[in-house]
Amino acid sequence: MAISQGGAHILIFPYPSQGHMIPLLDLTHQLALRNLTITILVTPKNLHYLNPLLIKHPSIQPLVLPFPPTTLIPHGVENVRDLPPSGFIPMTVALSDLYDPILNWFRNHPSPPLAIVSDMFLGWTNRLATELKISRYVFSPSAVLALSVSCNVWRHMPKRNDPTDENEVITFSDIPNFPSHPWWNLTPMFRSYAQGGPHSEVIRASSQGNLASCGFIFNSFTELERVYLDYMKKFLGHDRVWAVGPLLPSEEERVGRGGSNEILAGEIKLWLDQFEDATVVYVCFGSQAVLTNKQMEMLALGLEKSGARFLWSCKEPTKGHQVGEYGMIPLGFEDRVSGRGLIVRGWAPQVAILSHPAVGAFLTHCGWNSVLESIAAGVPMLTWPMMADQFYDADLLDELKVGTRVCEGERTVPDSDKLARLVASSVSDENGAPIARAKVLSKAAQESTQKDGTSYRAVDDLVDHLSKPKGL
Ligand code: UDP
Repeated sequence: MAISQGGAHILIFPYPSQGHMIPLLDLTHQLALRNLTITILVTPKNLHYLNPLLIKHPSIQPLVLPFPPTTLIPHGVENVRDLPPSGFIPMTVALSDLYDPILNWFRNHPSPPLAIVSDMFLGWTNRLATELKISRYVFSPSAVLALSVSCNVWRHMPKRNDPTDENEVITFSDIPNFPSHPWWNLTPMFRSYAQGGPHSEVIRASSQGNLASCGFIFNSFTELERVYLDYMKKFLGHDRVWAVGPLLPSEEERVGRGGSNEILAGEIKLWLDQFEDATVVYVCFGSQAVLTNKQMEMLALGLEKSGARFLWSCKEPTKGHQVGEYGMIPLGFEDRVSGRGLIVRGWAPQVAILSHPAVGAFLTHCGWNSVLESIAAGVPMLTWPMMADQFYDADLLDELKVGTRVCEGERTVPDSDKLARLVASSVSDENGAPIARAKVLSKAAQESTQKDGTSYRAVDDLVDHLSKPKGL
């Protein structure tokens, strides 16, 4: 198919989970606005997620390659919505079998891309780019701090004194503020590699492919993570590091983002409209985490005892969750909190909710998109990091003074009294300092993406780099 006569041709390759795909599609929109010629690679079950982008930019070409045959993950999990946290490693391995089909596509294309921008979980695309003599850029949907730790881990490959001790503390003494974490907080990819297993080498080579890539693109902004951006440049030994965030939908696109529906969004808005400013706590743990019934019970009890208004977006169990053990809302809870608590099952229009004036605090698992969306909306957070980069994100929020830790760990059951107290105070006058701080960061976030803001200029500079053939 003929490619429109725009700027340089690049290939975008997102990783198929909501938290990874949403921001890279938002970045693709920014790149298309700057006239790059774009091909975007997906497997068939994820093609429809591109629709809003393709409607806005009909010149973007989807490249749909069949999902590689695999026994590693159950049939259907290839869909962005269905990927459970335990599917991330097998998915990375399965997708690496697209190497040859992509290579063939490039070789048969009359004017193939000059560069690949691919998700950090697709580090193997750097080997592909090297074979094609083009540049590969890493897209990180994670914070710069979190990636500083993960890149450090993959370069230095820390070992434990006692290989069975999950609590052994690893300190990263050359990263600013010396992040220090127990082994179980390190990236699951690395822990899986360290355990040894059939796919360890694929994971290691792919992850280290990031370190050797041409540059890093972060969904973050300079004013938020300046010290870590400077660190990454020093660590990598070059300046090809761009903070282009926060990548957010426009006001009109907030509701449909990630696939939520207009009717639900309208009902939620009407419900929130009843309340005064900053009096509702929004509760959501992202697109992956599903709470156990015990966690659900204690969270519900905490919300009930807090007396606060809340909107709880509650993810239903998916494939791989034992039937009856996850995601159950305690009996009678909804009646007991009726009038001040609303429960949304399924996909909530999160960006629209966070920007509603009635929302005063966000109880979050600290997924980086959620964190940035909250910062952009000026909403301080109650933090419950559960896995992967979320621990580092929660630390960053402590450092920025916009987060209050309420719980930690994927299987930890929160204390309902502590939760109730912190939830209640998050929407009371006591929370003045984090609220003020969140407003300052929100203003900085907005300024960064406006014309001539740091992120705006970073996208311009990135486009210049993407437009140059390798080596120029
Ligand atoms: N999200 C949403 N509605 C939901 C759950 C999640 O819109 O009900 C969006 C949220 O706004 C964010 C993304 O899904 O953009 C989740 O990404 P995050 O990095 O916060 O967490 P993850 O899902 O990767 O754990």
